[in-house]
Amino acid sequence: MMSTPRQIREVMEPIQAVVFDKDGTLIDLNARWAPYFNRFIDDLARSLGDPAAAPKLKHLLGIEARLLLPDSVAAVETEQRMAERIVAELAPRGHDAEAAMRAIDDVDCMDHLGPLQPIGPVTAALESLANSGYLLGVATSDERANSVRELAELGIDQLIGWLRCGDDDGPVKPDGQVLVGLARHFDCPVDTLLFVGDSEQDMATARASGSKFVVRCDPAAPPGWVDQADGAIADIGELLDDQPGDTRVRP
Ligand SMILES: [Mg+2]
Repeated sequence: MMSTPRQIREVMEPIQAVVFDKDGTLIDLNARWAPYFNRFIDDLARSLGDPAAAPKLKHLLGIEARLLLPDSVAAVETEQRMAERIVAELAPRGHDAEAAMRAIDDVDCMDHLGPLQPIGPVTAALESLANSGYLLGVATSDERANSVRELAELGIDQLIGWLRCGDDDGPVKPDGQVLVGLARHFDCPVDTLLFVGDSEQDMATARASGSKFVVRCDPAAPPGWVDQADGAIADIGELLDDQPGDTRVRP
């Protein structure tokens, strides 16, 4: 069930800092990553001389009908953890762990990343939030090099005061210390921090830290864990107090 503007305003009331997950929250997960991961697995299986491993590896990563499932390994895990799981999956097929890890490292298909499609008015929403005095951060499982490139391409790199990536030293999601560290960095109490994400892992990260959590999901999302979030929005523009066409009555 999506939140009303009034419910979101109540969630935002004590908030000083807003931290966003990247894939599936700021940008369309499948548009960007489905072409990449399908190609990555095909190339990897071919380079190992084991094309029959491809469907098994896609299943492991959570790719179905060429699309990434929400909360799948490919959607939420860091590159390092994903590689370890692939190596474990390949072991019973007779692939030596070191050779498999080398093969993973050697696959280069970054030019198969799909388009960077913002979900809703991302740039305008972040500008508005920054102008309203919110401290802004991004916590992603993706690697830093690609994350920095993408934030710049979206035109929001200057608005993000703090960025934590999957290959940084220190904790990664779902460790709540990711957000505790951010609150410390921003010098605000952790319960005045709002985390906005699209996965159950994001919600676990927020809960473990004591932060608030709003889920970014499609209005047609099936009932389930999303109902346990403090709020549900279709895009981050809905965090703003003055949305275009907003005719709600002020308290
Ligand atoms: Mg995500």
